[in-house]
Amino acid sequence: MDSCKLCREEGGSLIWSGVDCRIVQVNDPNLPGFCRVIWHQHVTEMSELDLSQRDLLMKVVIGVEEIIANTMKPAKINLASLGNQVPHLHWHIIPRYEDDPYFPDSIWSGKRRDTAESVARERLSMADWLAARISEQADSWIVS
Ligand SMILES: [Zn+2]
Repeated sequence: MDSCKLCREEGGSLIWSGVDCRIVQVNDPNLPGFCRVIWHQHVTEMSELDLSQRDLLMKVVIGVEEIIANTMKPAKINLASLGNQVPHLHWHIIPRYEDDPYFPDSIWSGKRRDTAESVARERLSMADWLAARISEQADSWIVS
């Protein structure tokens, strides 16, 4: 699919790549720790995967969620699979904080505030640590 952005590009900074999917971190200073899990093959809907593929994808998504919870200590983690703009199967895993620019709305809503610079800097450094933990652990999630 030449026209598909996620067939042509990684979709963020690559953290880990397995046989079927990859994990990237989104480089958005407003949302430190924002990760995506992207299915390699061009499929549009979860229902196009067989049961074992769905299971594998959810293991990776939830593995990322757990590491975000443990390292970034967010108020909430948002999981989202939209694909309206890029209809190539991918999941967003987004740590959310009460002082993030969009809280309590979705990150695709209008900006309400700026996070204090010192707090944002600290979260950005935690996001580097998060990426290292994910890359160390991801292989273990897909071993059945
Ligand atoms: Zn695609």
